[in-house]
Amino acid sequence: MTGVDTPDQLRERYRHERDKRLRPDGNDQYIQPVGRFAHYLDDVWAEVAPREPLVDEVTFAFIGGGFAGLVVSARVSQVVGKAVDEALGEAVDDIRIIEKGGDFGGTWYWNRYPGAMCDTTSFVYMPLLEETGHMPSEKYAHGPEILDHARRIGHHYGLYDSAVLSTEVTSLDWDDNAKRWIISTNRGDAIRARFVAIGAGPLHRPKLPGIVGIETYGGHSFHTSRWDYGYTGGDPAGAPMTNLADKRVGIIGTGATAVQCIPHLARSSGELTVFQRTPSSVDVRNNAATDAEWFAALRDGWQQEWLENFTTLQTGGFVDEDLTMDGWTDLAQRIRDKAIENGDFTPEGLTKAYHDSDDEKMVELRARVDQVVNDPVTAESLKAWYRQLCKRPCFHDEYLQAFNRPNVTLVNTDGRGVERIDETGVWANGEHHELDVIIYASGFEVGTDYARRCGFETTGRDGRTLTKHWADGMISLHGIHMHGFPNLFLVGPNQGANLISNVPHNFVERAQTIAAVLTHALDVDATEVEVTAEAEAAWVKLLEDGGRTFGNDPDCTPGYYNNEGQLASTEGRRNFLGFPDGPMAYFAYIDQWRSTGRFEGLEFR
Ligand code: NDP
Repeated sequence: MTGVDTPDQLRERYRHERDKRLRPDGNDQYIQPVGRFAHYLDDVWAEVAPREPLVDEVTFAFIGGGFAGLVVSARVSQVVGKAVDEALGEAVDDIRIIEKGGDFGGTWYWNRYPGAMCDTTSFVYMPLLEETGHMPSEKYAHGPEILDHARRIGHHYGLYDSAVLSTEVTSLDWDDNAKRWIISTNRGDAIRARFVAIGAGPLHRPKLPGIVGIETYGGHSFHTSRWDYGYTGGDPAGAPMTNLADKRVGIIGTGATAVQCIPHLARSSGELTVFQRTPSSVDVRNNAATDAEWFAALRDGWQQEWLENFTTLQTGGFVDEDLTMDGWTDLAQRIRDKAIENGDFTPEGLTKAYHDSDDEKMVELRARVDQVVNDPVTAESLKAWYRQLCKRPCFHDEYLQAFNRPNVTLVNTDGRGVERIDETGVWANGEHHELDVIIYASGFEVGTDYARRCGFETTGRDGRTLTKHWADGMISLHGIHMHGFPNLFLVGPNQGANLISNVPHNFVERAQTIAAVLTHALDVDATEVEVTAEAEAAWVKLLEDGGRTFGNDPDCTPGYYNNEGQLASTEGRRNFLGFPDGPMAYFAYIDQWRSTGRFEGLEFR
């Protein structure tokens, strides 16, 4: 490779690194945890108690008990519960969350690997802090505290009362005669619901690398989302994993999860071997305990202000004060400063400002590796050669340091990945590594079919499935309503704000929108709420014309942000479309849409 002193040389280096990693099988390089791999999905956190199947009816059911389900159900219970009570004479607890895990928490229920913490500050990441009166203990709270917060929301809003846990939905079917959804589950339930919302989580289904011989491994193994403390010792709060002291531990993958758990593994393992295909970019974390006095002085409405402040900055907007002050907002500030310096606010000028400030940032991040990591060869291998937002940016103050320990070895496969697994270990770069345990930090399905990722099919009016409806990619109004699927609401970032950096912000907004639509439906005594085909098509056209999506930089290294580098399909692009003028503009638009009371595009029958 030539030097990387000029922007053109840097671009060439980025392309070179990307090309090394592009592979024709894209998402298909991964295997699903089914069949002989199904045990990788077992719930290691819950004993499933037997119960009789439920055959009953609720007004509002939410599929998924993570922050999406909790925030939306909390809002619905507040706003709609009363109306339901008055209109139908039904109980306010007529809201049921159906959750696969043994408790609420979603991603925080499953992902209890040591070192798990939120990546955007707790003050914007943890929803409903003001309402529940919780003060996050740290700027970036750790997993157990976030899981407790999910439970706190559940208790605060009475959502446990009628929740159904350790229950996996197997199908969702619209009964057009009864005007009810029928929710079937793996516990034999047939729950009828007048309204249903789905928040299955964008990164919900673990995937395994399709490495030749993976099934032949004779040692112990697990996926990071089902951490086996029975094997490792320790606990999610970070107690030393004493059982690993005499073990040869291998971890495959160096994404955001691995960056957080590797420092813990490094401290506890006899030997730790990290198999890297592509390094993550790792900026400083600077975590800190929350100052209780400062927190107590925050004025009412502070969390909404923080959410908007963060999102505005993070998506290229202007604010007087950066409340968050971290690596996320730093990049945005730099782009703004660069645009001011260049005096060019045209789209081309802003793109140039983004490129220039990103180039500077990445130079600093690569220099940080040299400052922290003692061995020059290891340091070189840990440097990320792509734009910071090509992959999930990482922030950690102990990750790079872990590679200075004598018991930690980095196996840099230079984009090729692990070659093969056999009964006793892993082959990489032509060498065999004997291992007692392999930990798969290999991520979650993103680019596969919605029904596959959800785990169930949704069938609307006239037997039309969501898979069929979305055969050419996702179509919806606002990312919430689909024509032919009355009384059904989706909760996620897609085709709405599409805010990826702080996903719960999308939920806070969706909760308000869904609550407003439900309130109106109950007010006018509508049996069905449905988007018209025209409104759905017009929304998708608006988004397509705007062309705002994420992760479609052709220079980016492959990963789930860019569908493993396979960018071209219309379907793929549709799934990740967002409002043309960005998240803050979407939030303003949808606030106006729901406030008029006209709910344009929806029919209330
Ligand atoms: P990722 O998909 O980010 O990482 C998977 C890793 O596995 C990559 O490093 C990938 O390499 C590697 N890999 C895949 N196949 C092979 C192979 N054959 N050989 C070697 N390596 C291989 O998954 P994560 O679980 O780390 O993160 C997923 C997402 O979850 C994050 O992006 C983030 O959105 C979220 N997350 C959020 C956190 C938070 O907010 N606190 C914390 C952790 C995760 P390659 O890069 O080359 O594809």
